[in-house]
Amino acid sequence: MHELSITQSLIGAVIERVGDRQVTGVNLCIGRLSGVLPDAVRFCFEVVSEGTCLAGAALNIDEPKGSGRCRDCGTEFALEDAILLCPCGSADVFVTGGRELTVTSVEVI
Ligand SMILES: [Zn+2]
Repeated sequence: MHELSITQSLIGAVIERVGDRQVTGVNLCIGRLSGVLPDAVRFCFEVVSEGTCLAGAALNIDEPKGSGRCRDCGTEFALEDAILLCPCGSADVFVTGGRELTVTSVEVI
Protein backbone atom coordinates (compact mmCIF):
# COMPACT_ATOMS: atom_id res chain seq x y z
CA MET A 1 0.00 0.00 0.00
CA HIS A 2 1.87 3.07 -1.18
CA GLU A 3 -0.51 5.37 0.69
CA LEU A 4 1.37 4.45 3.87
CA SER A 5 4.71 5.80 2.68
CA ILE A 6 3.01 8.84 1.13
CA THR A 7 1.23 9.58 4.41
CA GLN A 8 4.45 9.13 6.34
CA SER A 9 6.28 11.63 4.15
CA LEU A 10 3.38 14.12 4.31
CA ILE A 11 3.31 13.90 8.10
CA GLY A 12 7.10 14.15 8.23
CA ALA A 13 6.98 17.31 6.13
CA VAL A 14 4.34 18.85 8.42
CA ILE A 15 6.32 18.04 11.57
CA GLU A 16 9.40 19.59 10.01
CA ARG A 17 7.50 22.86 9.46
CA VAL A 18 5.58 23.18 12.72
CA GLY A 19 8.20 21.85 15.12
CA ASP A 20 6.55 20.57 18.30
CA ARG A 21 3.42 22.71 18.17
CA GLN A 22 0.15 20.82 18.44
CA VAL A 23 -1.52 20.40 15.05
CA THR A 24 -5.33 20.52 15.14
CA GLY A 25 -6.08 20.21 11.46
CA VAL A 26 -4.44 19.23 8.19
CA ASN A 27 -5.84 20.07 4.76
CA LEU A 28 -4.69 17.95 1.87
CA CYS A 29 -5.26 18.15 -1.83
CA ILE A 30 -5.32 14.75 -3.55
CA GLY A 31 -6.23 14.89 -7.22
CA ARG A 32 -8.45 12.20 -8.70
CA LEU A 33 -5.68 11.24 -11.09
CA SER A 34 -2.91 11.12 -8.51
CA GLY A 35 -3.36 7.39 -8.03
CA VAL A 36 -3.66 7.93 -4.28
CA LEU A 37 -6.79 6.77 -2.47
CA PRO A 38 -8.05 9.39 0.02
CA ASP A 39 -9.72 6.76 2.21
CA ALA A 40 -6.47 4.87 2.51
CA VAL A 41 -4.67 8.09 3.42
CA ARG A 42 -7.30 8.79 6.10
CA PHE A 43 -6.69 5.38 7.59
CA CYS A 44 -2.90 5.68 7.41
CA PHE A 45 -3.04 9.19 8.88
CA GLU A 46 -4.65 7.94 12.07
CA VAL A 47 -2.06 5.21 12.46
CA VAL A 48 1.01 7.24 11.53
CA SER A 49 0.07 10.41 13.45
CA GLU A 50 -0.29 8.54 16.72
CA GLY A 51 2.31 9.72 19.21
CA THR A 52 3.23 12.78 17.12
CA CYS A 53 2.08 16.42 17.36
CA LEU A 54 -0.50 15.55 14.70
CA ALA A 55 -2.33 13.01 16.83
CA GLY A 56 -6.06 13.69 16.83
CA ALA A 57 -5.82 16.36 14.14
CA ALA A 58 -8.78 16.71 11.79
CA LEU A 59 -7.93 15.63 8.27
CA ASN A 60 -9.67 17.32 5.37
CA ILE A 61 -9.03 16.08 1.89
CA ASP A 62 -9.91 18.07 -1.19
CA GLU A 63 -10.26 15.88 -4.29
CA PRO A 64 -10.05 17.99 -7.44
CA LYS A 65 -11.24 16.36 -10.64
CA GLY A 66 -8.88 15.63 -13.44
CA SER A 67 -8.66 17.73 -16.56
CA GLY A 68 -6.76 17.47 -19.78
CA ARG A 69 -6.14 19.32 -23.02
CA CYS A 70 -5.90 17.79 -26.45
CA ARG A 71 -2.80 18.65 -28.48
CA ASP A 72 -4.63 17.92 -31.72
CA CYS A 73 -7.86 19.93 -31.41
CA GLY A 74 -7.13 22.10 -28.35
CA THR A 75 -10.23 21.00 -26.44
CA GLU A 76 -10.02 21.08 -22.67
CA PHE A 77 -12.15 18.50 -20.93
CA ALA A 78 -12.69 16.66 -17.66
CA LEU A 79 -10.83 13.43 -17.10
CA GLU A 80 -12.70 10.93 -14.99
CA ASP A 81 -9.86 8.45 -14.88
CA ALA A 82 -6.33 7.98 -16.09
CA ILE A 83 -7.42 7.07 -19.63
CA LEU A 84 -6.23 10.00 -21.71
CA LEU A 85 -8.54 10.18 -24.67
CA CYS A 86 -10.03 13.33 -26.20
CA PRO A 87 -13.69 13.34 -27.36
CA CYS A 88 -12.25 13.87 -30.88
CA GLY A 89 -10.58 10.47 -30.62
CA SER A 90 -7.01 11.68 -30.19
CA ALA A 91 -4.85 10.16 -27.47
CA ASP A 92 -2.40 13.04 -27.64
CA VAL A 93 -3.67 14.58 -24.44
CA PHE A 94 -1.78 16.21 -21.62
CA VAL A 95 -3.02 16.38 -18.06
CA THR A 96 -3.69 19.90 -16.77
CA GLY A 97 -5.15 19.01 -13.39
CA GLY A 98 -5.99 16.22 -10.99
CA ARG A 99 -2.51 14.96 -10.17
CA GLU A 100 -2.10 17.18 -7.12
CA LEU A 101 -0.73 15.66 -3.94
CA THR A 102 -0.02 18.46 -1.54
CA VAL A 103 -0.52 19.75 1.96
CA THR A 104 -2.69 22.85 1.39
CA SER A 105 -2.62 24.16 4.94
CA VAL A 106 -2.06 23.18 8.54
CA GLU A 107 -3.84 24.48 11.64
CA VAL A 108 -1.81 24.73 14.81
CA ILE A 109 -2.59 25.90 18.33
ZN1 LIG B 1 -9.05 16.44 -29.44
